Amino acid sequence: METCCQRKKRILLKLSGEALSTEGHRGINPQSLKEIAEEIAEAYKKSCCELTIVIGGGNVWRGVRDGGGVIDRVNSDSMGMLATVINAIALQSAIEEAGVPTRVLTSINIYQLAEPFVRRKALRHLEKGRIVIFAGGTGNPFFTTDSAAALRASEINADVLLKATQVDGVYDCDPKKNPDAKLIRRITYTDAIAKQLQFMDTAALAICMENKLPIQVFNLHQKGNIQKALCGEEIGTTIY
Ligand code: UDP
Repeated sequence: METCCQRKKRILLKLSGEALSTEGHRGINPQSLKEIAEEIAEAYKKSCCELTIVIGGGNVWRGVRDGGGVIDRVNSDSMGMLATVINAIALQSAIEEAGVPTRVLTSINIYQLAEPFVRRKALRHLEKGRIVIFAGGTGNPFFTTDSAAALRASEINADVLLKATQVDGVYDCDPKKNPDAKLIRRITYTDAIAKQLQFMDTAALAICMENKLPIQVFNLHQKGNIQKALCGEEIGTTIY
């Protein structure tokens, strides 16, 4: 098997729940799930990294948006965290179907479905060649799964946080609204926070900055990007 690096890099890949659905739809689309899982599994087999994944839940439930003023914020966020567990179980099935063993570790205890998050257990799974999927976000309301990704990546001493998105990287303004938006190749944490570029919330950026954890933002929908990112190619935008 071809491998692309000498030392095992430890990587955290952040996927939005949207990655498992189709544009304009909610829930999980089995074909989208299969495609993304196969791409992750193939990229993982060809790289020589330790891989962890944080999956969001926005395709199923997003606290602020979906509570609609009827469900209070804390309960609505709890539902969002449960949504990430649904996505994690789906991703686990599909990645294992593609031939790579995985473990789901949750920050809210659901013993019958997944292991609770314990840092040392996560590291042991990585040693054994399993992809570790972190579900349940941070386990606290008022946070996002970007913050969970920053937190878990810092806790496990990841070398990089890869954020797979719908666009090519970080732009100086919203590329979906402004055709003149310019892609930024490299930007410091402080500039990214000061310019409020909206690709990740400030709490998550602050955790990465404090722990000197580089972030790479890239387009999930460009075939081969996951493998390039796992192999350390500087695609998209690097925040450092
Ligand atoms: N959430 C939360 N705490 C966390 C992570 C997530 O309360 O630590 C809730 C929040 O309601 C959020 C939802 O879970 O809207 C889904 O997560 P997110 O919006 O980050 O998912 P993504 O946009 O990445 O799919």
